[in-house]
Amino acid sequence: MQTNLADWIKDTPEGREADAILRKCVHCGFCLATCPTYNLLGDELDSPRGRIYLMKQVLEGAPVSVKTQVHLDRCLTCRACETTCPSGVQYGRLVDIGRGLVEKKVPRGFAEGASRALLRFAFLSGPLFAFGVALGRAFRPLLPAALARQVPPRRVAGEWPAARHPRRMIVLDGCVQPTLAPDINAATARVLDRLGISLVRVPQAGCCGAIEHHLNAQEAALDRVRRQIDAWWPHLEAGAEAVVVTASGCGTMVQDYGHLLAHDPAYAQKAARVTALAKDVGEVVAAERAALAKLLAGKPAVAGPIAYHAPCSLQHGLKQKGIVEGVLREAGFTLTAVPDSHVCCGSAGTYSILQPELSHRLLANKVKALESGNPAELCTSNIGCLLHIESGAARPMSHWIELLDRRLA
Ligand code: SF4
Ligand code: SF4
Repeated sequence: MQTNLADWIKDTPEGREADAILRKCVHCGFCLATCPTYNLLGDELDSPRGRIYLMKQVLEGAPVSVKTQVHLDRCLTCRACETTCPSGVQYGRLVDIGRGLVEKKVPRGFAEGASRALLRFAFLSGPLFAFGVALGRAFRPLLPAALARQVPPRRVAGEWPAARHPRRMIVLDGCVQPTLAPDINAATARVLDRLGISLVRVPQAGCCGAIEHHLNAQEAALDRVRRQIDAWWPHLEAGAEAVVVTASGCGTMVQDYGHLLAHDPAYAQKAARVTALAKDVGEVVAAERAALAKLLAGKPAVAGPIAYHAPCSLQHGLKQKGIVEGVLREAGFTLTAVPDSHVCCGSAGTYSILQPELSHRLLANKVKALESGNPAELCTSNIGCLLHIESGAARPMSHWIELLDRRLA
């Protein structure tokens, strides 16, 4: 694609990056077939190619309207288009740049701005968020059915093994996961403990920055990333082997730290090291296959089949397709076939709240696909997908590491 970027952007790091990405796109349209919003809405401007065209116009200095913002807001950032694109167009990076520019040029109305600010505050408020969830659970029986389904049931973390192994890794706690599903990281700690690795929590660390990043508060997100690195750094210097991430949505954000802070002289090197050490829990367990096989020796196969939902952040963002499925099969689980497994479930960070209509349509399709093989249980790799699918599914839903923890117990 030929480009002619406007003077105000062309010599900036963002401008140069966006220009290189735009030039790779050859308008072939292969990406349209796997774009969830294009498949639902049938509008070229809700496809990757259409959005790339809109962002090109912004970068070339054309007037920007609410229409551009609406089409960019509707994008799930699922990055299925990246997986499909034969030219290697890094759509995810481009849409981050495009959204940031449009946000500055098209002010949001009061109600929309306030609801976005409220979302940031609610998700990042720690104890206040926990109090709100506890309140929702207490009054669940009194809530209308549609709202009650959005309140996740209480999950019990169980024991976190004491750090007893020379091999250590640190874990990303995250913002909402400790309140909504403390069992996920505790199950990870138990599984890794059996594999000879101690998993250590870092209380000073919290949200990875993805909430602010999703909501286009990009400076606030960068500040949070720096604080996260500061909290982890002493542990990495002391020999922690990896930063284990159990929510693949957060994993894509942490994998991006090196890129996001590449132009910050004080943090560029540290951020690059964190990126190199960030690992999805599936990758960590898969690397310990031999030890896992010993723990599983002699155990009979699991009775009921399960269906696994591969989050977009894992398969399209982190490009780790098939790793978790391989570990589960080796652990004795039978996985049912899931049609259209490349398509987003509609959770996508804060998307389910900001775009409820599209999100519900994607959820209904995903639940139908996951339950089509009549599995006994469902599982996934990301807290957002887990809670979203659980709200619409008839079967129990877990993080896959919890299934493995139960299997090894
Ligand atoms: S990221 Fe997903 S929703 Fe957005 S354009 Fe690409 S395929 Fe479509
Ligand atoms: S598949 Fe790639 S090159 Fe083709 S239109 Fe989509 S983004 Fe552009």
